Amino acid sequence: MNVIPDAQVPGIYHRRIGDILVTALTDGYYDTPLASFNAVTEEEAAAILAENFQPAPPRVSINCFLIRSGGRTAIVDTGAGGSMGPTLGVLPRSLAALGVSEGEIDTVLLTHLHPDHSNGLTDPDGNALFASAEVVVSSADLLYRSDDAERSRFNAVQQRRYFDDARFQMAPYMDRVRDASGEVLPGVTATPLAGHTPGHTGYVVSSGNDALLIWGDTCHVPELQLPNPDVTVAFDVDSAAAARTRRRVLDWAASDRLLVAGMHLHFPGFIHVVRRNGGYQALPESWRYELAPTPGGAERTV
Ligand SMILES: [Zn+2]
Repeated sequence: MNVIPDAQVPGIYHRRIGDILVTALTDGYYDTPLASFNAVTEEEAAAILAENFQPAPPRVSINCFLIRSGGRTAIVDTGAGGSMGPTLGVLPRSLAALGVSEGEIDTVLLTHLHPDHSNGLTDPDGNALFASAEVVVSSADLLYRSDDAERSRFNAVQQRRYFDDARFQMAPYMDRVRDASGEVLPGVTATPLAGHTPGHTGYVVSSGNDALLIWGDTCHVPELQLPNPDVTVAFDVDSAAAARTRRRVLDWAASDRLLVAGMHLHFPGFIHVVRRNGGYQALPESWRYELAPTPGGAERTV
């Protein structure tokens, strides 16, 4: 019988970077209120989104990236778990569809400690979902989230969402944490992108002549923040530093014609950045058919 589907097939997309296989995995999406953006009014933001055929409030993808390199299996970020409603927390389903279990993942690379990135570390009882993984995270973020004086500056909801959740999620991993600096995995190097959080970290994946920058939350909504990198979000810890970092990274990506992947770029989240009209624009990379390298270095196509 011809069954009409009512949902997409699981969100999985492979991108080969030299000898390294990077796989985008969806954790779902989150509709971010227009009031979350600074340096643009809600009316202006809605108009820009409409011009770009985007809904308002913007529908923001939450992406994670599996990296298989040199016999290692790592995941960059863990999604929101069950903490942010029914449109998120899809990562376990995406992994299952890929045929990779959480137990096979030996390294969790975190871009930062925020609910949509790190609340997928444990089950609701606080047990580690990545049972045999070490966690690579910036010690600046860990220090900030465990600082009671910093915590006391926020309201009760923010204290729970940004501080208590991070402590709860990290608790079962604290005896297997490594600072996110230098080469963290074969071919994968941490790069500090402080601002959005004190230890916000990107990861550069490089192999042979190929390179990819996984830029974490350098951008939440490309239609709003690339034409004007000074548009910040309410959940930046230091919005001025976040804007400066965004400008620096956009300049880097555009100058070096660097392939970029982002946690909140529209799934599967691979783009190039170009300069346009005094700002920047994201050009989504078209579907890549090449996946498996063949002996001699040529790529095999389907
Ligand atoms: Zn985020």
